Amino acid sequence: MKWYQSNKRFLAEERQSLGEKYPFLKIDIAPMGIRINEALVLREEAALVNGIYRLSIPDSQRYIDYRIAILLPDNYPRDFPRMYCNDEKLPIGNIDRHIMTDGSACLGVNAEISQKWRAKPRIVFFLDEIVAPFLVWQAYYDTHGQPPPWGQRSHYAKGIFEYYTELLHGEVDWNIKDFMELLARKNDPKGHEKCPCGSGRRLRECHAELIKHVRQQILWKDVQKDMFTIEKGK
Ligand SMILES: [Zn+2]
Repeated sequence: MKWYQSNKRFLAEERQSLGEKYPFLKIDIAPMGIRINEALVLREEAALVNGIYRLSIPDSQRYIDYRIAILLPDNYPRDFPRMYCNDEKLPIGNIDRHIMTDGSACLGVNAEISQKWRAKPRIVFFLDEIVAPFLVWQAYYDTHGQPPPWGQRSHYAKGIFEYYTELLHGEVDWNIKDFMELLARKNDPKGHEKCPCGSGRRLRECHAELIKHVRQQILWKDVQKDMFTIEKGK
């Protein structure tokens, strides 16, 4: 059974809060076979957010509309939504604009989105905190013809390394792959293992506490997905 069949009340709540804040978007139960965008057809029935995301342009009366679709996965809200572009202004397969070949929006590093999502797993939060920065970035691109001066994470492996480096809060020179390998494990690493910081010492004499702290913040399965993305990118 899908989440929206077993939890009708939650679906109603999500619909209501979405309608209040984003009147041009709605949650449909979309049948198998409908087109999400030019590149993608829905393979089975699913809950789909459809419509227009309207961005106001600061200091003006104007706005930019983007047509988007957001797939709410079968075990929503445990898994976070996936956003697809469905607008001629957002070119599918244009990696420089962080839009993949199936039209999905590259919103950031898997573990990072997951971490944000778990703090508040609701559709309005996803739109406010995760979709909005992506579309603001796109709107700048559309109005200026070039990417904005503020950052969007790098692509693929580089962006992933940036995120995991930030988790170290200024500790430098770590072997990020070794660090990720410890985070990707289901069970806690043992104290006698080598610390990935490069000191040559054992974990318990070195950064065991930091590793433990980071492992509490992110899910090992998310780290595995990010490691898989790095492998694929080779
Ligand atoms: Zn260390």
